[in-house]
Amino acid sequence: MRELLIATSNPGKLREIRDALGDIPFEVLTLAGVEAGEEVEETGETFEENAILKAKTYGERTGKLTLAEDSGLEVDALGGRPGVMTARYAEGSDEDRYHKLLDEMKHVPDEKRGAQFRAVVAIYDPEGGKVHTRTGAYRGRITREPSGAGGFGYDPIFFSDELQKVGAEMSPQEKNSVSHRGKAIAKAREILLSEFV
Ligand code: IMP
Repeated sequence: MRELLIATSNPGKLREIRDALGDIPFEVLTLAGVEAGEEVEETGETFEENAILKAKTYGERTGKLTLAEDSGLEVDALGGRPGVMTARYAEGSDEDRYHKLLDEMKHVPDEKRGAQFRAVVAIYDPEGGKVHTRTGAYRGRITREPSGAGGFGYDPIFFSDELQKVGAEMSPQEKNSVSHRGKAIAKAREILLSEFV
């Protein structure tokens, strides 16, 4: 069975990616189980550049078929910020970051609190040197205070238009059915099955 490296050091992302890939005829490896070296610095200016950078770097370092993902939150009232800077929006924990966002948006009225998560998934095959990318988006709005206990990152303050609850209140299956990552991984799964099995 061919090996597939899921190159993320974010445990929340890893869980969701594994769930969304479901049953696939690959031996799934994670960064914890391979010699992948230091964490790759995200120097790209777009989600796509960073996803490709991570997939290629970890794929070249390990020689394995590699899937990487880059994602972030684009807030309408902030002109699309924090975008690629979502993970670096504030120092500290996820909680520190979403509190900073709530604070920055405290004067933004309810009807202007629209936002979206976007994800780009890249699959890199070091044998052929080819990279495939797929994208997903997830629309909603920024709440005024956190709620829920599930998920990760900004899930407690992101209210889904489709499911009418925040990400942190969704089951893992519900979240993958509407999320940027769930949608991008569903498309990436098709590539894995058609190109690499
Ligand atoms: P990166 O892709 O590692 O650069 O970081 C993604 C950033 O977006 C991190 O701060 C994550 O917490 C946040 N993020 C990405 N996807 C989600 C999600 O599904 N829910 C909540 N936060 C997310």
